[in-house]
Amino acid sequence: MIYDRVLIRYGELSTKGRNRNVFVTKLKKNIKDIMKNEGNIQIQAGRDRMYLLLNGASYERIKEKLSNVFGIQSFSPVVRTEKNIEKVKEAALTLVKANFSPGNTFKINARRSDKTFEIDSQEMNSVLGAHILKNIDGIKVDVKHPDIELLVEVRKEGVFLSCEWVKGAGGLPAGVSGKAMLLLSGGIDSPVAGYMMMKRGVEIEAVHFFSPPYTSERAKQKVIDLAKKLTSFGGTIKLHIVPFTEIQQKIHETVPANYTMTSTRRFMLTIADEIRKKNGGLALVTGESLGQVASQTMESMLAINDVTSTPVLRPLIAMDKLEIIEISRKIGTHDISILPYEDCCTIFTPPSPKTKPKLERVEHYESFFDFEPYVREAVEKTETLLISEEFESKEFQDLF
Ligand code: ATP
Ligand code: MG
Repeated sequence: MIYDRVLIRYGELSTKGRNRNVFVTKLKKNIKDIMKNEGNIQIQAGRDRMYLLLNGASYERIKEKLSNVFGIQSFSPVVRTEKNIEKVKEAALTLVKANFSPGNTFKINARRSDKTFEIDSQEMNSVLGAHILKNIDGIKVDVKHPDIELLVEVRKEGVFLSCEWVKGAGGLPAGVSGKAMLLLSGGIDSPVAGYMMMKRGVEIEAVHFFSPPYTSERAKQKVIDLAKKLTSFGGTIKLHIVPFTEIQQKIHETVPANYTMTSTRRFMLTIADEIRKKNGGLALVTGESLGQVASQTMESMLAINDVTSTPVLRPLIAMDKLEIIEISRKIGTHDISILPYEDCCTIFTPPSPKTKPKLERVEHYESFFDFEPYVREAVEKTETLLISEEFESKEFQDLF
């Protein structure tokens, strides 16, 4: 292995003024968490970049994990040499040779951040270019579309060389924007909504409404698996599983069929908000997209949202289903989401829910029954699982 470290560039982060220290510290912690099983990696965090010293760890595995970490604009595996032109020539040749196959073209892209170094970038380009042309048979220069681009950067700490540039996940480090509760169903949309908020630095705790025996253990396992997928973008996730059967039954006994959907959503939001308060969250997140289904019209949202003044973040609101599906594929949740197991809403969905429910109507219907104790009980009986990459569910194993 030639590369001995990975250079991480922050991008957007470095423009965040006074907050930068907080961001960099958080990013460092998130990377450390995600790399905890990858050997003795050391992290050196600076103002505008970070280095992971590999100490023999596999770059390929680290590359895969790093590409999911929010707050990284790009990264490159690098070798470092002393600021001595002979050493730089040697390292440059080794790197280009390692990446060369017959017929390949190359280009040197040198940058001198440390102006005290006597060779400027133009001269560095030509010295290194000549050295490579002389020592690799058949290699040619192509400055527009090279097969191999050797990045050389002269900095105070030394000269850094790399033939690889990997686009990072972008966004902000998970956790710097505070915590929100994600209403996580087993569907396609809500995991994507969670991912998008995580990308903006939000720490997510998931809340799932579960209605046994109408919904099976498998439906629950599906949600656990979805939460597990999301952990690769921000580390461990708390998953709150709310027993929702009784409330759903009471709604059905109390509220006319075409209003049960609206009412169900109102209680979901109410309960999620209680769980938020208990856990120090600042907002709620849903996977709603305008006009997608009956409960996602603006009239519905007005009637549903009325139960709380807590911000309800809906990152998918203006997205098309196909765009959402594309993201779900990219983040690996799609194939879990499309598994058939019913969730609590599908089962209780009336044949024709109101697409334009009226707030006064739903309030009127709900006034016939005291739901308060049921809400309290659901919150009290909520089971919380700590989902990490290694999480395995006991109940699910028992099914086989
Ligand atoms: P999804 O694909 O996320 O299930 P959907 O298109 O099926 O969304 P709805 O069923 O109307 O839409 O749900 C809207 C949102 O309400 C979901 O995105 C999710 O945030 C929340 N939600 C629905 N059912 C549940 C549930 N059982 N537990 C937690 N949240 C839920
Ligand atoms: Mg759904």
